[in-house]
Amino acid sequence: MDERLARTIEERTDELTALAADLIRFPTVNPPGDAYRPCAEFIAERLRKRSFGVEFIRAEGTPGDSDRYPRINVVARFDGRTRGSTVHFNSHIDVVEAGEGWSLDPFAGVMRDGRVYGRGACDMKGGLAASIIAAEAFMDVNPDFPGAIEISGTVDEESGGFGGVAYLAGKGYFSKPKVDHVIIPEPLNKDRICLGHRGVWWAEIETKGEMAHGSMPFLGDCAVRHMGAVIRAFEEELFPALDQKRTRMPVVPEGARRSTMNINAIHGGQTDDYSGLPSPNVPDSCRMVIDRRFLLEETLAEVKDEIVTVLDRLKESRKKFDYTIRDIMEVLPLMTERDAPVAAAVAAGIREVFGREPEYVISPGTYDQKHVTRIGHLHDCIAYGPGILDLAHRPDEWVGIADMVESAKVMAVGLDRLLRGRGR
Ligand SMILES: [Zn+2]
Repeated sequence: MDERLARTIEERTDELTALAADLIRFPTVNPPGDAYRPCAEFIAERLRKRSFGVEFIRAEGTPGDSDRYPRINVVARFDGRTRGSTVHFNSHIDVVEAGEGWSLDPFAGVMRDGRVYGRGACDMKGGLAASIIAAEAFMDVNPDFPGAIEISGTVDEESGGFGGVAYLAGKGYFSKPKVDHVIIPEPLNKDRICLGHRGVWWAEIETKGEMAHGSMPFLGDCAVRHMGAVIRAFEEELFPALDQKRTRMPVVPEGARRSTMNINAIHGGQTDDYSGLPSPNVPDSCRMVIDRRFLLEETLAEVKDEIVTVLDRLKESRKKFDYTIRDIMEVLPLMTERDAPVAAAVAAGIREVFGREPEYVISPGTYDQKHVTRIGHLHDCIAYGPGILDLAHRPDEWVGIADMVESAKVMAVGLDRLLRGRGR
């Protein structure tokens, strides 16, 4: 890669490390959506000093938004000297709760042994820091560059992105002509390009029963036993069938290169938050939340139909069996082409920095790319960033300092290709 650009980034290693640590120190835990405002203001302050124009956009009325926990997003933009295309780096600033099992303070931004530790270190404050340094270094080396660079810090990705990228996409922030190319620095490993993700169908299945005294269950009808029949049918018919379905999508890990379903929760009968003793009741309702992940080769209608077929068969074979299904969330699978401009530009970066071909992957779960594509109708979008995917959401999460530096270089080469067209 360009010698000056590489050196400029290397010289800022300490700055990049400190920036990642500073970002980790904002405990932007979601839910509930803590510290969004100060974190957004911190990013804005940093980029304003580099003459970015900054906007705060609160996603009013979206899930979780309140005066106590406002859904504050920040979008910064720097316009080059002449017109050209716009590259947007989008990072979510929210993190999941720390959980148990940490050997250090998850929000202290501890730097040790070439790593920065903390909740969100790899997912994805390390990626945000790398993209900021990449953009600043690129601007310093190429002060006359054409086009524009945008950097956003958005909220609620971990809970679906409705108060973050979905909201902004609905307002035109992720559409042409404002933006042409989007890079999402999620932790997919520094030499891999993530082209998209599998589809999701979340739904709640409820079995119905009839209440009666628990000492005479034969007078009622137990909804939990009906749900037991549903689980048995899933074990016998559905799970083996899902396991047989393979995809051409390069999903990682390998085990996710097929259809999967998680039984996310089951609730039947009385809640367990009573005080004293429970009263003896036959439950008249049992609810199950399913999390079905599907492939490009499947349609959402087929995915739903599979479940309905199992349940309808139970209705025929099992006395008094009745059920309802309620959709919770639907996301279609998506995959950006490898020769799309942003994928090609980042691939060039990986070749220049690491001297090898990138690995192309698909995420087993979804991320904000879905909103960019579906709501913003922008298809030139990938995820690329430092950090090891398997460390996300784990105790003692960390991001490697050398990894951040190298992926900042890849991002800078990507910028160079997309904005200056160098080497094309
Ligand atoms: Zn993430």
